[in-house]
Amino acid sequence: MLERYKKFLEKFDKRLDKYFENQCEYIKCKEGCSLCCEVGEYPFSRLEIEYLMQGIMQLPASVKSVIKENIKQLKKNQPKMYRCPFLIKSSCSVYPYRGIVCRTHGLAWFDEDEEKIKLPYCVNKGLNYAKVFDRETGEVFLPEPIKERLRIDSILRSKEAEEYEIECGEIRPLIKWL
Ligand code: SF4
Repeated sequence: MLERYKKFLEKFDKRLDKYFENQCEYIKCKEGCSLCCEVGEYPFSRLEIEYLMQGIMQLPASVKSVIKENIKQLKKNQPKMYRCPFLIKSSCSVYPYRGIVCRTHGLAWFDEDEEKIKLPYCVNKGLNYAKVFDRETGEVFLPEPIKERLRIDSILRSKEAEEYEIECGEIRPLIKWL
């Protein structure tokens, strides 16, 4: 299953690269910015956690021990929104193995069900899509939003995922898996 998931991710990442490219005039993502990983719930499926574990196993012992300590602190406080325990020195320690939610960080997309554009968290910090967002009225002036529903459940339970025979299993906040 993990091999099939890896292939699925390769295709999904290519599509995301295109989205980032097409939306580049609204994107402020740059190396060293880790806002998306500073505050969140980070929904992960069972499948993604298994994949993430593969990445963790390959990390040097020193990095593993920082992650272990981060997790210990998190579990002690059990916050709803938190800093991802895999974020070390403003960079993702498990980057190739990160989840779907992480891969879509920073993009805005049109939610057909709610008939509204979903914006990334950092729009409120004057970053991605800030130039097309009116904070006072909440209106978004984005001429060509991404039409794909970039939510973990829609992605991992899509027709495309079925083609790869992917069963993602239960989805929970990252903290509940640790
Ligand atoms: S796994 Fe990596 S990319 Fe995902 S939230 Fe954590 S630090 Fe960020």
